[in-house]
Amino acid sequence: MGKIHPNVDKYVVSRARALESILLEKGILAPDSVDRIVKQYESDTGPMYGARAVARAWVNPTYKQKLLTNSTAALAELGLKYEMLVVVENTAQVHNLVVCTLCSCYPWPVLGLPPTWYKSPPYRSRAVSEPRAVLKEFGLEISESCEVRVWDSSAEMRYMVLPIRPPGAEALPEDRLVKLITRDALIGVATVHAAQ
Ligand code: FE
Repeated sequence: MGKIHPNVDKYVVSRARALESILLEKGILAPDSVDRIVKQYESDTGPMYGARAVARAWVNPTYKQKLLTNSTAALAELGLKYEMLVVVENTAQVHNLVVCTLCSCYPWPVLGLPPTWYKSPPYRSRAVSEPRAVLKEFGLEISESCEVRVWDSSAEMRYMVLPIRPPGAEALPEDRLVKLITRDALIGVATVHAAQ
């Protein structure tokens, strides 16, 4: 993933620090609020809702249909109120990949904190211009017979991939399946593996 990880981290970090200290200085931000919000998305949200929705979809065809056609209702069943998610299903014929070419739109409540590379200009442009090459850098080789569909997120619409249930995980119950599902698989840059 070398090309997708430009040396962007240190600039983003120092810019964020500078912004944070100005906001603190002006009293706009309470000292612990950033940490609190980050913690909330890191450990309380995580890719938890997304993973739970996918695991349930794998074991329950009715829920899967609901997740694909009415994600608001499907997420509400898990206790999450979120109204802008479209769920796209990976199959043997179609592999889906999510990007925001314009900026960094991302379904935070469903997937937690976005990875740094998601916001990087190389990922944002190359995911559209050469998605197969990008996926290869993530270690994912998509066969030529499988179509790659790229979904461009926006302020109004966010996307999540419903990955293929891995072979070998047929007998696993929902709560065990949840643990196999990674954030990257829900963005479409990875697949889900049974052994982890
Ligand atoms: Fe965006």
